Formats: sequence, structure tokens, C-alpha cells
Amino acid sequence: MKETNTNTYVTIPCQKCGRLVENCGEHAVKATCSYCVLAIVGMPEEKKNTYVPTGRPAGWHWMKEFVDKDGTVYHNGKEVPKLKGTLPPTKVKPKKKPAKRRTKEQILLDRNKKKKEALKKARQKQKDFLNHQFGD
Ligand SMILES: [Zn+2]
Repeated sequence: MKETNTNTYVTIPCQKCGRLVENCGEHAVKATCSYCVLAIVGMPEEKKNTYVPTGRPAGWHWMKEFVDKDGTVYHNGKEVPKLKGTLPPTKVKPKKKPAKRRTKEQILLDRNKKKKEALKKARQKQKDFLNHQFGD
């Protein structure tokens, strides 16, 4: 059986890139191909790649002088090509302090200590209150 022009689907060029989009509704005047839809929606992988870590410290371009790992010298964020390789790279201090690891026992002990302190305070408060009440 030969296909006739009574089929309900037509092929329309994508309104953005011109790629032929098959299976469009008979009355469709505009079509957007799957590629352009993805481009509009934005593929997650693309978003991930927008941030490229430079290995430079935050605010390096405000520094009077910053020497990159490869020896590129920057003055206030502007590259100074003639100084490249003449200075030692600026040492980037790690921002995060190494977290002191507490053992489970230590955590429990600390918690207990705090509880005891709170209790002590509460008792003292009560004492003060009672002393006031009866005029010691
Ligand atoms: Zn397209």
C-alpha cells in the first residue's frame, strides 16, 4: 500500500537550524528539532564545563603582583609578558584549615561536659531564685 498525502504527519524544517523534523502534526507551521530543543534547555554537561578552576586564589586579579604556576606574571590582574618566568610563583595558601578530627568518645565527652555546665547554671539560677525568695 502506497503512502498517500492523507497521512497526518509532515516533515518541516526546524525553524532554527533548518534540520528536517519528521512526524510534525499536519497543521504544524513551525518546528524545532531535538538538537535545538536541547540547546535551549541546556545540556547539563555543558553547564558543568562553564566553570574552569584556574588554581589561582580568589581575588588574584586584585593583587599587585601575582605569579601563576607557569611563571606568568600579573600586575593587578594584567599579564606582564616580559616578566614571565623571572619570578617565583605566588604561593597559594590553602583556604581550608585542616579540620581537627574528634573521636566519637571525645564528642560524647564534650557533649557531657556541656550538659553538666548547663545543669550547673540551671541549679545556680534556682538557688539564686530561692535565696531571693526567702531573703537569705
Ligand atoms: Zn534545529
